[in-house]
Amino acid sequence: MVETNARTREGVGMTSLRTRRRLIGRLRDQGITDENVLSVIEQTPRHLFIDEALSHKAYEDTALPIGHNQTISQPLVVALMTVLVLNNDIQVKRVLEVGTGCGYQTSILSQLVSWVFSIERIGGLQKQAKERMISLGYRNVSYLNGDGFDGWQSNQPFDGILVSAAPRVVPDSLLKQLGIGAKLVIPVGSSDHQRLRIITRKVDRFEEEQREAVRFVPMLNGRR
Ligand code: SAH
Repeated sequence: MVETNARTREGVGMTSLRTRRRLIGRLRDQGITDENVLSVIEQTPRHLFIDEALSHKAYEDTALPIGHNQTISQPLVVALMTVLVLNNDIQVKRVLEVGTGCGYQTSILSQLVSWVFSIERIGGLQKQAKERMISLGYRNVSYLNGDGFDGWQSNQPFDGILVSAAPRVVPDSLLKQLGIGAKLVIPVGSSDHQRLRIITRKVDRFEEEQREAVRFVPMLNGRR
């Protein structure tokens, strides 16, 4: 039978593999060279993480609304942050993610590391993400409906931490939950002016690098 439903994993038309490959081309043009990350993005059905009415925009390089006033991150930013957190001399096996959202970044990470620990403050959003992830077969993820400002004490230290909401200053608790050599990748700043930072935990100090300007929703206290 010929598949005409755009809600399949393979997709058709604006959600087809051909459309996805065009996105990969754009990511390459913008400096993403990590073949593992590019291939995972190519294989991941981003159109199934957003509302059906927006499916045709799934492989444009833009952020899109996912309800509860939140957005799915732009593919270029997902690719860049993934490369930054994984590119390390230590083996990056266990990663903490703050801001599950619709689960798209979670799914990308879960295909590249052994286990993802993902925290989201909005319970309803995380429940949907979790169900979607399970139905798509991404199972190496633990979910916590909690406040990312506290990190995830019982599972630390992590080999990397990726934050997809922007605090005003880097939370101390997240620095403390980095293992030696691990990197924290985090957007920091006000709602209209943020910069991506990478902070690496060395044996006796933290090393910090400032990267590109980005735009994320604010990181907020408390869960609901
Ligand atoms: N990577 C996600 C991005 C979602 S937007 C995706 O691609 O879908 C950022 C998310 O961070 C939102 O869902 C928001 O609710 C969540 N967030 C904001 N502050 C938080 C906090 N303190 N702890 C956990 N999650 C938080």
